[in-house]
Amino acid sequence: MIAIRNQPELDLIRRSGEILVECFAKLEETLGPGVETRELDRIAEEFIRARGATPAFKGYQGFPASICTSVNEQVVHGIPGERKLAEGDIVGIDVGVVRNGYYSDAARTYPIGEVSEKARRLMRITKEALDLGIDAARDGKHLSDVSHAIQKHAESNGFSIVRTLVGHGIGRQMHEDPQIPNFGLPGRGPVLVRGMVLAIEPMVNEGKADVLTLKDNWTFVTVDRKLSAHFEDTVAVTIEGPVIMTR
Ligand code: MG
Repeated sequence: MIAIRNQPELDLIRRSGEILVECFAKLEETLGPGVETRELDRIAEEFIRARGATPAFKGYQGFPASICTSVNEQVVHGIPGERKLAEGDIVGIDVGVVRNGYYSDAARTYPIGEVSEKARRLMRITKEALDLGIDAARDGKHLSDVSHAIQKHAESNGFSIVRTLVGHGIGRQMHEDPQIPNFGLPGRGPVLVRGMVLAIEPMVNEGKADVLTLKDNWTFVTVDRKLSAHFEDTVAVTIEGPVIMTR
């Protein structure tokens, strides 16, 4: 069942999302060549706790860190550690916040120093696919209209959509109904109505769509080891159209 949130609940999710936005701004101050991904994790955890909130990922199904850092061929769920970011890398950073029992979830992919033209293009198309998906999250439309908008933009630009990982409803828990695939025919699935809150998160690959998990049982990588990008926002369906809670 897809939860319908009232305005006070939407306000609480928005407050949670504001901390998340500020957390990204904080991380951007440090992000660059030579920075260990565990340093980003430490900064994010300290920042979120200082704001009176909790990092939603820490301990989630045993996940050992507060953020996910996924470098280059890593798709999502990379565990921060000793790895130093290097000039030319791209890094996906995924952060979840819970404040007063309400969750928000967002991800950005960042270039480290100068990156290749194809990396820049992959990041740009993935972000645009997210924006098009968000724009389709409107009262009266179908859930798969979101999925279709994302898929169409990624594939028409020569990239592929990860199919085994999906977006999700969010609110009182990090992962709620519905699952939101990033591909599909339009006009299918549940009808969206105001008060639904969706974490929309395209994962777009430079090469083939296939992914696998590393031995750490968390990190997803592309099978062909080509680049992958990930952008995510928490979005409320409202009568005035989609409202992004995490920008
Ligand atoms: Mg998510």
